[in-house]
Amino acid sequence: MRARIRPIHRFPIQTFTVLAVLCTCLWAGAQQPRIQYYQLVKGFVAESKTPYGWAKGTGFVSENPWGQYTAYLMATNAQGQRTFRIEHYLPNKDNLTSQGSTMYLFEGSSRALLIDTANPAKATEGVNDLKTVVRYLLGHENDGSVRAHPLDFVVANTHNHPDHIGENARMSDRTVYYMDLDWPAQAPPNYVPIREGGGPTNHGNGTAVSQIDLGNRLISAVAVPPHSTGSTAYFDAENRMLVTGDAIGSAWPYLQMGPLTRFDQSIHHIEELTRPYPDIAVFPAHFYQVAAWSRGRAPLNGRPLDRQYITDMAALADGVLAGTIVGEPFGVSSLESYWANHDTAHFVYTLPNIFGAGEAGFPYHAVHLPGNFKRDSVGAPMDPPMETISKFGADFYLIRDNAGESLFLLHGSTSALLIGTGGSEPGLAAFVRSLVGDLPLDVAVLDKDPRQAGGIAQLNPRHVYVAASSVLNGVPATVIADGATIDLGLDPSGKPLVLEAASFQSDGVTNLSLLNPTDRVLFAGNAFEKHDAPPRGFGPPRSNPEQDRAARVAWLSTLKGRFDTVYLATNTRWFTSPETFETTVSSAAAASVGGGGRTP
Ligand SMILES: [Zn+2]
Ligand SMILES: [Zn+2]
Repeated sequence: MRARIRPIHRFPIQTFTVLAVLCTCLWAGAQQPRIQYYQLVKGFVAESKTPYGWAKGTGFVSENPWGQYTAYLMATNAQGQRTFRIEHYLPNKDNLTSQGSTMYLFEGSSRALLIDTANPAKATEGVNDLKTVVRYLLGHENDGSVRAHPLDFVVANTHNHPDHIGENARMSDRTVYYMDLDWPAQAPPNYVPIREGGGPTNHGNGTAVSQIDLGNRLISAVAVPPHSTGSTAYFDAENRMLVTGDAIGSAWPYLQMGPLTRFDQSIHHIEELTRPYPDIAVFPAHFYQVAAWSRGRAPLNGRPLDRQYITDMAALADGVLAGTIVGEPFGVSSLESYWANHDTAHFVYTLPNIFGAGEAGFPYHAVHLPGNFKRDSVGAPMDPPMETISKFGADFYLIRDNAGESLFLLHGSTSALLIGTGGSEPGLAAFVRSLVGDLPLDVAVLDKDPRQAGGIAQLNPRHVYVAASSVLNGVPATVIADGATIDLGLDPSGKPLVLEAASFQSDGVTNLSLLNPTDRVLFAGNAFEKHDAPPRGFGPPRSNPEQDRAARVAWLSTLKGRFDTVYLATNTRWFTSPETFETTVSSAAAASVGGGGRTP
């Protein structure tokens, strides 16, 4: 304070006045944000939420004449054009209500635009259905009085998921701008294709539009795949608003539908587009105010997602692609889902979906298990597998390489162990060091697949453990007998981190498996399921399928009851139950018996 007051004494009085006016304006600005989140529209019922932002009770603070809907007035601009958010709540079993999707309603001078129609709703036509809600909003002034000449409205969708187009059929009497690249097989005649840049298309009347003119308010389509192929954001540059659907901002955008590289392009596109608008407000379609999942930072307390969120998201996508940001299991989606965080941004992705077909890039991508999902998900439902892995005392990394192999990196107080070394792409040694520092490093090679031993030459490990010297064909290695152990010191919870060896015959070679009996975790190699990437120059002869089957079954029976989850060099899942694995082993065996087995 003092530092600011002193120079002012030296300024002429006019400067002081200007500063005083400026300060008043800034103060008024701080009191009245440009975008309001909790300004309930007269006649609607407020949402009710837990401290974590989850819907409480019915989702509304009292009985709601508008059924599953409510509406908030976000902004009224100098031209009197208003922006609303319309919320839709979904009743679920056991009296659990959930936030459905958020819709936005933009008024122009000649017409209005409803963005998305949320899930199909239970509503009474003409009483509390979506069209009636929108007409009521457009038909009333902010003070609740009736508007003499209300605007009519058109509709646009952000993407083709059912929770965003659910009430489209109710809008059959008006234009619905629908994503050209998500176009449905049987599009109704009122659908008009929309796509950034517009241009020729096979849909609608043959031309995609790129902008929607509401009269002194121009809304531009922005391509933001790959949450869906046609994912479209709606940009109102004049009012510095960007409606994103599920592309970004929707709590944890799901990127499983397309490669991360495509998302990276989309987020950088948004970053460039919004660069001239430092006070851009991002309007997502879900959970704009959920405090759980580390959302307590940017968007809470009525503040919209901002420019910082966009730049954080761009840095996050870059970081995951470059291998510098490590993901963690995401416990409410699929066993293949991971999420990654960077400051205010996070997203959900899968390891096989980092690169598109034919793309190349940094070859190693790590996820950290068990991660902090449970800790950061207070108040959220939890899948049982997440409960299981959350008990691990020894955290470890699953590293996926571009050859399609999963490596497992464990670290204790005295040494680190890399299980499998991948397909020999450069950069492994530095990557491993970035994760475990300069701990002495040992390596275990589980089988003869070239993706197990490819990286050894880069690593200069202290020991290379194998189940038989024939696995590495004469390369110096330590043969570890069944029941022998690899001691890594203590795990982060202070318990001994010791792995036990158990071997079995498969594909004419002695395969190694390693068990962490304390955490009840089993690591195994390539013998059980098909790789999602073909091996390079590897065609292992199956020496004797029936013998292999018997050997695997015998091996599994010695480990039965000693592990709760298994990690295979072939998979990218963060959890596989013993029951699922047993089925894999016996079905692989069954296939072998039938003479098929793993195709070379
Ligand atoms: Zn979606
Ligand atoms: Zn959605």
